[in-house]
Amino acid sequence: MGKLIRLRGIEVRIVFLGPPGAGKGTQAGMLTSELGYVHLSTGDMIRDEMGRGTELGKFTQTFYDKGDLVPDETVIDMIKERLAGAENVILDGFPRTVPQAASLDDQLYRIGVSLDKVIYFSVDVDELIDRLEKRRDIEGRVDDEPEAIRHRMDVYDRETAPVVDYYRDGDRVIQIDALGTIDEVRDRLIGALK
Ligand code: AMP
Repeated sequence: MGKLIRLRGIEVRIVFLGPPGAGKGTQAGMLTSELGYVHLSTGDMIRDEMGRGTELGKFTQTFYDKGDLVPDETVIDMIKERLAGAENVILDGFPRTVPQAASLDDQLYRIGVSLDKVIYFSVDVDELIDRLEKRRDIEGRVDDEPEAIRHRMDVYDRETAPVVDYYRDGDRVIQIDALGTIDEVRDRLIGALK
């Protein structure tokens, strides 16, 4: 178990919010390996289903390849079973719509817990496009093709940016500057989590 968890001595639930390419997955992976958090990424779950060629994977693929969001009920079901038993989780890429955020509040309420922190990764759009193009060259993700990137940015503005406001209303958001090296962002993140 990691330092942060021992310091706090209680279960921790954190949401990472921010546009595609902001570095949420990279930072979540780092906290998982260094500090023992459980990384729950709906994007990874979807890629896993698609990779295994399951019915769910085939269904989600049609949305994924275009850079569209998978329907709320589908991702809510995916996260539900994993969330119930998990402690010290980082939710990365979920919630991505206001109904998903409301459903998450509801699910946590039912199991008698709440979110500890919502970390908003703030980053400039030009920088994002640059990062996503580099990721496409390395990982070959179809949704990092230029047309899909543009579309995902539009989807983010329309569907996911309101989630930041949803949490801001409840005063739960900590904004961190996600520009800079991976280590610089990591240090800011650790500072924000203390
Ligand atoms: P990510 O790896 O988080 O960038 O997600 C990649 C893709 O998976 C997105 O463009 C969506 O097609 C799908 N996806 C991941 N998380 C969600 C979510 N919470 N709601 C809807 N679609 C999602």
